[in-house]
Amino acid sequence: MITFRTFASGSSGNASLLELDRSDGGVDRYLFDVGISPRRLTGQLEELDLGWSDLTGVLPSHFDRDHVHLNMPKTLAAHQVPTILERGQQKEAGQVGIHGSLMRFHEGILDLSSETKLQTVRVPHDEHVCCAFVVEHRDLKFALATDLGNVPKAFLDLAAGADLLAIESNHCPDLLASSGRPAFLIDRISGSHGHLSNQQCVAAVQAISTKQSPNAVVLLHLSAECNHPHAIENLWREHLPHLMPNLHIALRNETTGPFRPGREASLF
Ligand SMILES: [Zn+2]
Repeated sequence: MITFRTFASGSSGNASLLELDRSDGGVDRYLFDVGISPRRLTGQLEELDLGWSDLTGVLPSHFDRDHVHLNMPKTLAAHQVPTILERGQQKEAGQVGIHGSLMRFHEGILDLSSETKLQTVRVPHDEHVCCAFVVEHRDLKFALATDLGNVPKAFLDLAAGADLLAIESNHCPDLLASSGRPAFLIDRISGSHGHLSNQQCVAAVQAISTKQSPNAVVLLHLSAECNHPHAIENLWREHLPHLMPNLHIALRNETTGPFRPGREASLF
């Protein structure tokens, strides 16, 4: 079994937890992004009867502060939690203070265990080396992509048939255009190295779910000002009506989930 939860999602902080049941009865636990304060994350782990020693590793998509909180490197070091990263992210990881002795490198593919394979794809986001993730655990597939200006075909191919899919649905282009933000910022957000629009997200989900529908699609990193669940709902009703029962929006500041393959729940 695999279980996914988000702890926070959006420009004020991102963190989520993937739990993988092993055949020996143990559980591997990975945090995808750690962009909230250690104190807050400690509290949200405690709500699940978990502590830092239960964590197997941390996988940041990139090293912006909303993905690796200012105080997180110290906490990760105190609890000896390794950070798993692409070799090309080493410099940025070092700059935010991740300890070199706790960095575990890969080149886009890594066996996390004998039962679990990680693959990453670089996605375009500002000047960062930003990664999207696909985790295959036994016969189940989990995919996560956030903070990307467009979705590379390599990710669509790898994520195809995912049982659980977490993907950015950052903004509604109309709300962004009328937000009153400066033009350079609008251009950055909507550009090819910015953030995924609701429409881009729908197109990606369509491509990923052609052969098999995910049991849950969790939308990440919604803009507080330039998005609205109604805009998303209208779009999905038009383009992905059969997936509406599987659609969920990650809450900005609260735990959302758990999501598991086969779990039935509906947002709308
Ligand atoms: Zn972000």
